[in-house]
Amino acid sequence: MGFTVHLPTLLLLSVAINLLIGGLLWAIFKLRSRQHCFRLWALACMAFAAGTLFAGARAFIDAPWITVFLAHVFLGFSPFLVLAGLQRFSGIASRKTRRFRQVLRFSAAGYLLILLLSFQGDPLNARLLTALFSAALFSFAIYTLSKLDTTPSLPVRILKVLFTVHGVLMMSQALVIGVDWLGLNQTNTDFLLRLILINHILLASATTLALPLLAFTQSEQRLRIMAERDGLTGLFNRRSLFREGIRAFDNAAQSQAQLAVLMMDLDHFKQVNDRWGHAAGDEALRLVSRTLRHELRDDDIIGRVGGEEFAVVLRITGDDDVRIITHRLLEAIATNGQEIQGLPLYISASIGGVEKADRHKTFADMMIEADSALYNAKNKGRNRVEFEQLPPETTTP
Ligand code: GH3
Ligand code: MG
Ligand code: MG
Repeated sequence: MGFTVHLPTLLLLSVAINLLIGGLLWAIFKLRSRQHCFRLWALACMAFAAGTLFAGARAFIDAPWITVFLAHVFLGFSPFLVLAGLQRFSGIASRKTRRFRQVLRFSAAGYLLILLLSFQGDPLNARLLTALFSAALFSFAIYTLSKLDTTPSLPVRILKVLFTVHGVLMMSQALVIGVDWLGLNQTNTDFLLRLILINHILLASATTLALPLLAFTQSEQRLRIMAERDGLTGLFNRRSLFREGIRAFDNAAQSQAQLAVLMMDLDHFKQVNDRWGHAAGDEALRLVSRTLRHELRDDDIIGRVGGEEFAVVLRITGDDDVRIITHRLLEAIATNGQEIQGLPLYISASIGGVEKADRHKTFADMMIEADSALYNAKNKGRNRVEFEQLPPETTTP
Protein backbone atom coordinates (compact mmCIF):
# COMPACT_ATOMS: atom_id res chain seq x y z
CA MET A 1 0.00 0.00 0.00
CA GLY A 2 1.36 3.41 -0.94
CA PHE A 3 0.03 5.09 2.18
CA THR A 4 2.64 5.72 4.85
CA VAL A 5 2.43 7.70 8.03
CA HIS A 6 5.33 9.20 9.90
CA LEU A 7 4.20 8.24 13.38
CA PRO A 8 6.31 10.69 15.46
CA THR A 9 5.06 13.63 13.34
CA LEU A 10 1.49 12.44 13.71
CA LEU A 11 1.82 12.07 17.47
CA LEU A 12 3.45 15.46 17.92
CA LEU A 13 0.75 17.06 15.78
CA SER A 14 -1.93 15.39 17.88
CA VAL A 15 -0.27 16.60 21.10
CA ALA A 16 -0.08 20.15 19.73
CA ILE A 17 -3.72 20.17 18.53
CA ASN A 18 -5.02 18.81 21.83
CA LEU A 19 -2.98 21.27 23.86
CA LEU A 20 -4.35 24.11 21.73
CA ILE A 21 -7.97 22.98 22.07
CA GLY A 22 -7.39 22.26 25.77
CA GLY A 23 -6.02 25.78 26.21
CA LEU A 24 -9.05 27.22 24.45
CA LEU A 25 -11.44 25.23 26.66
CA TRP A 26 -9.52 26.32 29.76
CA ALA A 27 -9.81 29.95 28.64
CA ILE A 28 -13.58 29.47 28.18
CA PHE A 29 -13.71 27.96 31.67
CA LYS A 30 -11.95 31.02 33.08
CA LEU A 31 -14.35 33.34 31.26
CA ARG A 32 -17.47 31.41 32.30
CA SER A 33 -16.14 30.28 35.66
CA ARG A 34 -19.37 28.70 36.77
CA GLN A 35 -19.37 26.12 33.98
CA HIS A 36 -17.07 23.45 35.35
CA CYS A 37 -17.73 21.18 32.37
CA PHE A 38 -15.23 23.31 30.41
CA ARG A 39 -12.51 22.59 32.97
CA LEU A 40 -13.19 18.85 32.71
CA TRP A 41 -13.17 18.99 28.91
CA ALA A 42 -9.91 21.01 28.97
CA LEU A 43 -8.40 18.36 31.26
CA ALA A 44 -9.64 15.67 28.84
CA CYS A 45 -7.60 17.32 26.07
CA MET A 46 -4.55 17.62 28.32
CA ALA A 47 -4.90 13.97 29.36
CA PHE A 48 -5.11 12.91 25.71
CA ALA A 49 -2.02 15.00 24.87
CA ALA A 50 -0.10 13.57 27.86
CA GLY A 51 -1.11 9.99 26.99
CA THR A 52 -0.06 10.46 23.36
CA LEU A 53 3.25 12.03 24.43
CA PHE A 54 4.08 9.19 26.86
CA ALA A 55 3.06 6.52 24.32
CA GLY A 56 5.16 8.21 21.64
CA ALA A 57 8.19 8.28 23.96
CA ARG A 58 8.39 4.50 23.51
CA ALA A 59 10.60 5.08 20.46
CA PHE A 60 13.17 6.90 22.61
CA ILE A 61 13.08 5.44 26.12
CA ASP A 62 12.69 1.93 27.44
CA ALA A 63 10.44 2.55 30.43
CA PRO A 64 7.16 0.62 29.95
CA TRP A 65 5.74 2.00 33.20
CA ILE A 66 5.74 5.41 31.58
CA THR A 67 5.31 4.63 27.88
CA VAL A 68 2.63 1.98 28.33
CA PHE A 69 1.07 2.06 31.79
CA LEU A 70 1.04 5.81 32.46
CA ALA A 71 0.28 6.55 28.81
CA HIS A 72 -2.86 4.39 28.94
CA VAL A 73 -3.93 5.78 32.30
CA PHE A 74 -4.08 9.19 30.60
CA LEU A 75 -5.56 7.88 27.33
CA GLY A 76 -8.32 6.02 29.21
CA PHE A 77 -9.07 9.00 31.44
CA SER A 78 -9.48 11.37 28.52
CA PRO A 79 -12.93 10.03 27.41
CA PHE A 80 -13.77 9.58 31.09
CA LEU A 81 -13.25 13.31 31.65
CA VAL A 82 -15.29 14.12 28.52
CA LEU A 83 -18.13 12.08 29.96
CA ALA A 84 -17.74 13.60 33.45
CA GLY A 85 -17.94 17.05 31.79
CA LEU A 86 -21.11 16.05 29.94
CA GLN A 87 -22.64 14.87 33.21
CA ARG A 88 -21.71 18.14 34.87
CA PHE A 89 -23.11 20.04 31.90
CA SER A 90 -26.44 18.17 31.85
CA GLY A 91 -26.82 18.95 35.57
CA ILE A 92 -29.72 16.51 35.96
CA ALA A 93 -29.42 15.47 39.60
CA SER A 94 -31.78 12.53 39.74
CA ARG A 95 -31.27 9.33 41.72
CA LYS A 96 -30.68 7.55 38.43
CA THR A 97 -27.88 9.99 37.54
CA ARG A 98 -26.23 9.56 40.95
CA ARG A 99 -26.26 5.78 40.49
CA PHE A 100 -24.90 6.32 36.99
CA ARG A 101 -22.02 8.38 38.42
CA GLN A 102 -21.24 5.64 40.92
CA VAL A 103 -21.11 3.08 38.10
CA LEU A 104 -18.72 5.40 36.27
CA ARG A 105 -16.43 5.72 39.28
CA PHE A 106 -16.41 1.96 39.79
CA SER A 107 -15.65 1.31 36.12
CA ALA A 108 -12.77 3.85 36.23
CA ALA A 109 -11.35 2.12 39.32
CA GLY A 110 -11.85 -1.28 37.62
CA TYR A 111 -10.06 -0.01 34.51
CA LEU A 112 -7.06 1.11 36.56
CA LEU A 113 -6.95 -2.17 38.45
CA ILE A 114 -7.12 -4.40 35.35
CA LEU A 115 -4.58 -2.16 33.60
CA LEU A 116 -2.26 -2.63 36.53
CA LEU A 117 -2.80 -6.40 36.75
CA SER A 118 -2.59 -7.13 33.02
CA PHE A 119 0.34 -4.83 32.42
CA GLN A 120 3.48 -6.73 31.49
CA GLY A 121 5.22 -4.19 29.37
CA ASP A 122 3.19 -5.34 26.34
CA PRO A 123 1.43 -2.30 24.85
CA LEU A 124 -1.19 -4.46 23.09
CA ASN A 125 -2.79 -5.56 26.40
CA ALA A 126 -3.13 -1.97 27.49
CA ARG A 127 -4.38 -0.85 24.08
CA LEU A 128 -7.04 -3.56 24.04
CA LEU A 129 -8.24 -2.61 27.51
CA THR A 130 -8.24 1.14 26.79
CA ALA A 131 -10.13 0.57 23.52
CA LEU A 132 -12.85 -1.44 25.30
CA PHE A 133 -13.04 1.05 28.19
CA SER A 134 -13.32 3.99 25.75
CA ALA A 135 -16.02 2.24 23.68
CA ALA A 136 -18.06 1.70 26.88
CA LEU A 137 -17.59 5.37 27.86
CA PHE A 138 -18.74 6.56 24.44
CA SER A 139 -21.93 4.49 24.83
CA PHE A 140 -22.50 6.18 28.22
CA ALA A 141 -21.87 9.55 26.55
CA ILE A 142 -24.55 8.85 23.91
CA TYR A 143 -26.96 7.92 26.73
CA THR A 144 -26.17 11.20 28.57
CA LEU A 145 -26.72 13.21 25.38
CA SER A 146 -30.10 11.57 24.80
CA LYS A 147 -31.26 13.05 28.15
CA LEU A 148 -30.44 16.61 27.04
CA ASP A 149 -33.17 18.93 25.82
CA THR A 150 -31.34 21.51 23.73
CA THR A 151 -32.81 23.41 20.82
CA PRO A 152 -31.58 23.43 18.09
CA SER A 153 -30.50 19.83 18.49
CA LEU A 154 -27.72 19.98 15.86
CA PRO A 155 -24.76 19.96 18.33
CA VAL A 156 -26.30 16.99 20.18
CA ARG A 157 -26.69 15.13 16.88
CA ILE A 158 -23.11 15.97 15.82
CA LEU A 159 -21.76 14.69 19.14
CA LYS A 160 -23.88 11.54 18.99
CA VAL A 161 -22.45 10.75 15.54
CA LEU A 162 -18.89 11.46 16.73
CA PHE A 163 -19.29 9.28 19.83
CA THR A 164 -20.86 6.48 17.79
CA VAL A 165 -18.09 6.51 15.17
CA HIS A 166 -15.49 6.75 17.94
CA GLY A 167 -17.04 3.84 19.81
CA VAL A 168 -17.10 1.71 16.66
CA LEU A 169 -13.48 2.68 15.96
CA MET A 170 -12.42 1.63 19.46
CA MET A 171 -14.21 -1.69 19.05
CA SER A 172 -12.43 -2.17 15.69
CA GLN A 173 -9.13 -1.49 17.42
CA ALA A 174 -9.96 -4.15 20.02
CA LEU A 175 -10.89 -6.52 17.19
CA VAL A 176 -7.67 -5.87 15.27
CA ILE A 177 -5.59 -6.50 18.41
CA GLY A 178 -7.61 -9.67 19.10
CA VAL A 179 -6.99 -10.93 15.56
CA ASP A 180 -3.31 -10.08 15.95
CA TRP A 181 -3.17 -12.33 19.00
CA LEU A 182 -4.43 -15.11 16.76
CA GLY A 183 -1.37 -14.61 14.57
CA LEU A 184 -2.32 -12.28 11.71
CA ASN A 185 0.41 -10.71 9.60
CA GLN A 186 2.24 -8.09 11.70
CA THR A 187 2.60 -5.47 8.94
CA ASN A 188 -1.14 -5.42 8.22
CA THR A 189 -1.98 -5.07 11.88
CA ASP A 190 0.45 -2.22 12.29
CA PHE A 191 -0.95 -0.45 9.27
CA LEU A 192 -4.53 -0.86 10.49
CA LEU A 193 -3.65 0.34 13.98
CA ARG A 194 -2.00 3.43 12.56
CA LEU A 195 -5.07 4.13 10.44
CA ILE A 196 -7.24 3.77 13.54
CA LEU A 197 -4.89 6.07 15.43
CA ILE A 198 -5.26 8.80 12.78
CA ASN A 199 -9.04 8.57 12.97
CA HIS A 200 -8.90 8.45 16.75
CA ILE A 201 -6.92 11.71 16.81
CA LEU A 202 -9.28 13.36 14.32
CA LEU A 203 -12.37 12.26 16.23
CA ALA A 204 -10.95 13.32 19.61
CA SER A 205 -10.18 16.78 18.21
CA ALA A 206 -13.59 17.07 16.50
CA THR A 207 -15.35 16.05 19.71
CA THR A 208 -13.58 18.62 21.85
CA LEU A 209 -14.41 21.27 19.25
CA ALA A 210 -18.09 20.26 19.17
CA LEU A 211 -18.49 20.33 22.97
CA PRO A 212 -18.39 24.17 23.29
CA LEU A 213 -20.93 24.32 20.46
CA LEU A 214 -23.28 22.30 22.64
CA ALA A 215 -22.70 24.53 25.66
CA PHE A 216 -23.15 27.74 23.66
CA THR A 217 -26.38 26.45 22.08
CA GLN A 218 -27.80 25.81 25.53
CA SER A 219 -26.76 29.26 26.84
CA GLU A 220 -28.29 30.87 23.76
CA GLN A 221 -31.52 28.93 24.32
CA ARG A 222 -31.65 30.08 27.97
CA LEU A 223 -30.93 33.71 27.05
CA ARG A 224 -33.60 33.63 24.34
CA ILE A 225 -36.17 32.32 26.82
CA MET A 226 -35.17 35.04 29.30
CA ALA A 227 -35.47 37.73 26.63
CA GLU A 228 -38.74 36.54 25.11
CA ARG A 229 -40.68 35.09 28.01
CA ASP A 230 -42.18 36.47 31.17
CA GLY A 231 -40.28 35.02 34.12
CA LEU A 232 -43.31 34.42 36.33
CA THR A 233 -45.72 32.76 33.91
CA GLY A 234 -43.58 31.62 30.97
CA LEU A 235 -45.94 33.44 28.58
CA PHE A 236 -44.63 35.85 25.92
CA ASN A 237 -43.51 39.17 27.37
CA ARG A 238 -44.85 42.44 25.98
CA ARG A 239 -42.16 42.83 23.31
CA SER A 240 -42.51 39.27 22.02
CA LEU A 241 -46.28 39.47 22.01
CA PHE A 242 -46.08 42.56 19.81
CA ARG A 243 -43.55 40.88 17.51
CA GLU A 244 -45.70 37.76 17.14
CA GLY A 245 -48.88 39.82 16.90
CA ILE A 246 -47.48 41.96 14.06
CA ARG A 247 -46.45 38.79 12.23
CA ALA A 248 -49.93 37.27 12.68
CA PHE A 249 -51.58 40.55 11.59
CA ASP A 250 -49.47 40.74 8.39
CA ASN A 251 -50.19 37.08 7.56
CA ALA A 252 -53.91 37.59 8.16
CA ALA A 253 -53.88 40.73 5.96
CA GLN A 254 -52.20 38.82 3.14
CA SER A 255 -54.37 35.73 3.30
CA GLN A 256 -57.64 37.54 4.15
CA ALA A 257 -57.81 35.44 7.32
CA GLN A 258 -59.69 36.46 10.43
CA LEU A 259 -57.91 37.58 13.57
CA ALA A 260 -59.00 38.78 17.00
CA VAL A 261 -57.14 40.53 19.79
CA LEU A 262 -58.18 40.27 23.44
CA MET A 263 -56.87 42.45 26.26
CA MET A 264 -57.50 41.04 29.70
CA ASP A 265 -57.00 42.62 33.13
CA LEU A 266 -57.64 40.93 36.46
CA ASP A 267 -60.25 42.62 38.61
CA HIS A 268 -59.34 44.29 41.90
CA PHE A 269 -56.04 42.49 41.93
CA LYS A 270 -54.46 45.00 44.28
CA GLN A 271 -56.89 43.85 46.94
CA VAL A 272 -55.84 40.24 46.38
CA ASN A 273 -52.23 41.19 47.10
CA ASP A 274 -53.13 43.41 50.02
CA ARG A 275 -55.32 40.78 51.63
CA TRP A 276 -53.54 37.52 50.87
CA GLY A 277 -49.98 38.59 50.19
CA HIS A 278 -47.80 38.93 47.11
CA ALA A 279 -46.99 35.19 46.96
CA ALA A 280 -50.68 34.29 46.67
CA GLY A 281 -50.99 37.03 44.02
CA ASP A 282 -48.11 35.52 42.07
CA GLU A 283 -49.71 32.08 42.27
CA ALA A 284 -52.96 33.59 41.00
CA LEU A 285 -51.10 35.06 38.00
CA ARG A 286 -49.56 31.65 37.27
CA LEU A 287 -52.96 30.00 37.55
CA VAL A 288 -54.50 32.49 35.12
CA SER A 289 -51.67 31.83 32.65
CA ARG A 290 -52.24 28.05 32.95
CA THR A 291 -55.96 28.59 32.41
CA LEU A 292 -55.30 30.65 29.27
CA ARG A 293 -52.97 27.99 27.93
CA HIS A 294 -55.46 25.26 28.70
CA GLU A 295 -58.46 27.03 27.19
CA LEU A 296 -56.75 28.34 24.06
CA ARG A 297 -55.09 26.55 21.15
CA ASP A 298 -51.36 25.97 20.81
CA ASP A 299 -51.06 28.40 17.90
CA ASP A 300 -52.84 31.24 19.71
CA ILE A 301 -50.44 33.93 20.91
CA ILE A 302 -50.66 34.57 24.64
CA GLY A 303 -48.65 37.18 26.52
CA ARG A 304 -48.40 38.89 29.90
CA VAL A 305 -48.15 42.51 28.84
CA GLY A 306 -48.28 44.18 32.27
CA GLY A 307 -48.47 43.32 35.98
CA GLU A 308 -51.92 41.66 35.89
CA GLU A 309 -52.67 42.31 32.24
CA PHE A 310 -52.67 39.67 29.55
CA ALA A 311 -53.12 39.91 25.77
CA VAL A 312 -54.18 37.19 23.36
CA VAL A 313 -54.04 37.10 19.57
CA LEU A 314 -56.49 34.53 18.22
CA ARG A 315 -56.27 33.15 14.71
CA ILE A 316 -59.91 32.57 13.90
CA THR A 317 -60.84 29.78 11.54
CA GLY A 318 -64.13 28.44 10.18
CA ASP A 319 -66.94 28.58 12.69
CA ASP A 320 -64.91 29.92 15.63
CA ASP A 321 -66.94 32.37 17.64
CA VAL A 322 -64.71 34.80 19.53
CA ARG A 323 -67.50 35.68 21.95
CA ILE A 324 -67.97 32.08 22.98
CA ILE A 325 -64.22 31.71 23.44
CA THR A 326 -63.97 34.83 25.63
CA HIS A 327 -66.95 33.84 27.78
CA ARG A 328 -65.43 30.42 28.26
CA LEU A 329 -62.19 32.11 29.35
CA LEU A 330 -63.93 34.29 31.93
CA GLU A 331 -65.82 31.31 33.33
CA ALA A 332 -62.68 29.20 33.55
CA ILE A 333 -60.75 31.98 35.33
CA ALA A 334 -63.59 32.57 37.81
CA THR A 335 -63.98 28.83 38.48
CA ASN A 336 -60.25 28.03 38.81
CA GLY A 337 -59.60 31.21 40.78
CA GLN A 338 -62.10 30.51 43.55
CA GLU A 339 -59.44 28.91 45.68
CA ILE A 340 -55.66 29.29 45.37
CA GLN A 341 -53.21 27.72 47.84
CA GLY A 342 -56.24 26.87 49.99
CA LEU A 343 -57.25 30.56 50.17
CA PRO A 344 -60.63 31.86 48.95
CA LEU A 345 -59.27 34.36 46.40
CA TYR A 346 -62.19 34.60 43.97
CA ILE A 347 -60.27 35.91 40.95
CA SER A 348 -62.15 37.42 38.03
CA ALA A 349 -61.11 39.25 34.89
CA SER A 350 -62.40 41.80 32.41
CA ILE A 351 -61.78 41.40 28.69
CA GLY A 352 -61.79 43.87 25.84
CA GLY A 353 -61.87 42.35 22.38
CA VAL A 354 -61.68 43.40 18.77
CA GLU A 355 -61.94 41.49 15.50
CA LYS A 356 -59.76 42.48 12.57
CA ALA A 357 -61.52 44.80 10.13
CA ASP A 358 -60.59 47.01 7.16
CA ARG A 359 -60.15 50.04 9.42
CA HIS A 360 -57.18 48.35 11.13
CA LYS A 361 -54.02 49.33 9.29
CA THR A 362 -51.60 47.93 11.85
CA PHE A 363 -51.57 45.50 14.75
CA ALA A 364 -51.17 48.47 17.11
CA ASP A 365 -54.57 49.79 15.89
CA MET A 366 -56.18 46.57 17.08
CA MET A 367 -54.37 46.72 20.43
CA ILE A 368 -55.58 50.31 21.01
CA GLU A 369 -59.19 49.33 20.30
CA ALA A 370 -58.97 46.21 22.48
CA ASP A 371 -57.61 48.39 25.26
CA SER A 372 -60.47 50.85 24.98
CA ALA A 373 -62.98 47.93 24.96
CA LEU A 374 -61.32 46.70 28.15
CA TYR A 375 -61.80 50.14 29.67
CA ASN A 376 -65.52 49.84 28.84
CA ALA A 377 -65.70 46.38 30.41
CA LYS A 378 -64.16 47.78 33.62
CA ASN A 379 -66.53 50.73 33.66
CA LYS A 380 -69.55 48.53 33.11
CA GLY A 381 -68.89 46.52 36.25
CA ARG A 382 -65.95 44.08 35.57
CA ASN A 383 -66.01 40.28 35.16
CA ARG A 384 -67.34 40.78 31.64
CA VAL A 385 -66.38 41.05 27.96
CA GLU A 386 -66.78 44.09 25.75
CA PHE A 387 -66.12 44.19 22.02
CA GLU A 388 -65.10 47.36 20.24
CA GLN A 389 -67.50 48.54 17.49
CA LEU A 390 -69.92 45.73 18.29
CA PRO A 391 -73.10 45.73 20.36
CA PRO A 392 -72.02 45.56 24.01
CA GLU A 393 -71.93 42.20 25.71
CA THR A 394 -73.69 41.96 29.04
CA THR A 395 -72.78 38.52 30.23
CA THR A 396 -71.97 38.22 33.86
CA PRO A 397 -71.23 34.65 34.81
P1 GH3 B 1 -58.90 46.90 38.44
O1 GH3 B 1 -60.04 45.98 38.59
O2 GH3 B 1 -59.32 48.30 38.16
O3 GH3 B 1 -57.93 46.41 37.39
O4 GH3 B 1 -58.12 46.94 39.83
P2 GH3 B 1 -56.71 46.40 40.15
O5 GH3 B 1 -56.54 46.42 41.63
O6 GH3 B 1 -56.49 45.07 39.49
O7 GH3 B 1 -55.78 47.43 39.41
P3 GH3 B 1 -54.53 48.25 39.86
O8 GH3 B 1 -53.88 48.72 38.59
O9 GH3 B 1 -54.90 49.28 40.87
O10 GH3 B 1 -53.59 47.20 40.58
C1 GH3 B 1 -52.90 46.21 39.88
C2 GH3 B 1 -52.18 45.40 40.93
O11 GH3 B 1 -51.52 44.29 40.35
C3 GH3 B 1 -51.14 46.18 41.67
C4 GH3 B 1 -50.01 45.23 41.87
O12 GH3 B 1 -49.80 45.01 43.24
C5 GH3 B 1 -50.48 43.94 41.23
N1 GH3 B 1 -49.39 43.32 40.51
C6 GH3 B 1 -48.79 43.75 39.39
N2 GH3 B 1 -47.81 42.89 39.03
C7 GH3 B 1 -47.80 41.91 39.96
C8 GH3 B 1 -47.01 40.74 40.14
O13 GH3 B 1 -46.09 40.40 39.36
N3 GH3 B 1 -47.28 39.94 41.20
C9 GH3 B 1 -48.29 40.27 42.09
N4 GH3 B 1 -48.53 39.45 43.09
N5 GH3 B 1 -49.03 41.36 41.92
C10 GH3 B 1 -48.80 42.17 40.89
MG1 MG C 1 -56.58 44.93 37.40
MG1 MG D 1 -54.04 46.63 35.32
